[in-house]
Amino acid sequence: MILAAIVIDYAVGLAADILNLKALRLEVPDPLKDVYKSDDYRRSQQYTHVTTIFGIVKGTILQAAILVFWFAGGFGAIDRLVHSPGLPLIIEGLLFIGILLAGYALLELPFSVYHTFVIEERFGFNRTTRATFALDCLKGLGLALILGAPLLAGILALFEYGGSYAWLYAWAAVTVYTLTVQFIAPVWIMPLFNKFTPMTDGELKEAILGYSRSVAFPVANVFVMDGSRRSTRSNAYFTGFGRNKRIALFDTLVKQHTVQEIVAVLAHEIGHYKKKHIIKDLLVSVAHTGLLFFLLSVFLNAPGLYEAFHTEQSVYAGLVFFSLLYTPVEMVVSIVTNAISRVHERQADHFAAATTKEPLSLAEALKKLSANNLTNLTPHPFYVFVNYSHPPLLQRINAIRGK
Ligand SMILES: [Zn+2]
Repeated sequence: MILAAIVIDYAVGLAADILNLKALRLEVPDPLKDVYKSDDYRRSQQYTHVTTIFGIVKGTILQAAILVFWFAGGFGAIDRLVHSPGLPLIIEGLLFIGILLAGYALLELPFSVYHTFVIEERFGFNRTTRATFALDCLKGLGLALILGAPLLAGILALFEYGGSYAWLYAWAAVTVYTLTVQFIAPVWIMPLFNKFTPMTDGELKEAILGYSRSVAFPVANVFVMDGSRRSTRSNAYFTGFGRNKRIALFDTLVKQHTVQEIVAVLAHEIGHYKKKHIIKDLLVSVAHTGLLFFLLSVFLNAPGLYEAFHTEQSVYAGLVFFSLLYTPVEMVVSIVTNAISRVHERQADHFAAATTKEPLSLAEALKKLSANNLTNLTPHPFYVFVNYSHPPLLQRINAIRGK
């Protein structure tokens, strides 16, 4: 079953990739004629082509590595290794999962280096220096240890000693923990990676505050983020909630867009709040966590799970094997959440178009963002169905124009 799960997940991804490559068109779709100059259009297609092939190669090697490791008895070997010194159970679990995650991260590292310094470099996106890249890796590792290890230890302990309601306790614990991390992230975690500067007074700030007053959405914190430290791509987003809620505009966005366009992008983000998307997404993800822990509790005691991997029965090994078995469920969940997200994006676009003075500014902003990011203008519908959290550009622009 686990083998089938891994293969199905891989096959669906591959099919979507291949269809997407076949859907690349020589001609720009009519309403998008002005997005790219002809040369850039070809470049955007090359970019889609290169990143897709890269994704297929990376996915194939990583999946194959997991299968080879499995059939060569790797899981059993690591299980015996962490078991032999007679350490406390929770420590054994942390070591078992830590070793596996570290191995996987090391395997992934060359791909990450190649993506940043070869592909992104070739298409002119990369601004990351080697030092920044190395520091990011170290900070990521530090965060995984500081934030991840205690949570994992807690989950292992709950399933070890929590009895038959362990999944309920784990569900509650993870929910509270995630909310706490999201609450502190804008203030404690994100500044580790980027610099957030409060926006200076001027035309843009006036326009933003004027708009937010007009829709009765008080924004106290507008920050400009130094996205250009890593890439030329641009974006804008809301982070955190409650007192720590803030809007971050990439410096690249501020540089490349007109005031009206930036207000339109911001209006879209505020639309997500006004339409209660944030809270809905949160509820869906809490429900998903519950489903995950319930299914985990069902499978943890199935001896077959451990026989398949040649290990002793243990909570920590069960956690890892269940995560492999869970892949197809995860795929279905992600297809559903992507579909919900695309509806939300449409609603936020509609909100922005309806509440800004010039509804077409959003369309202009989206076109510029797409051109700047070398977006694929003709994604295959199946690829969109599986992978897209936003509707394709053409659909968004048609919807904004009321077509
Ligand atoms: Zn959005």
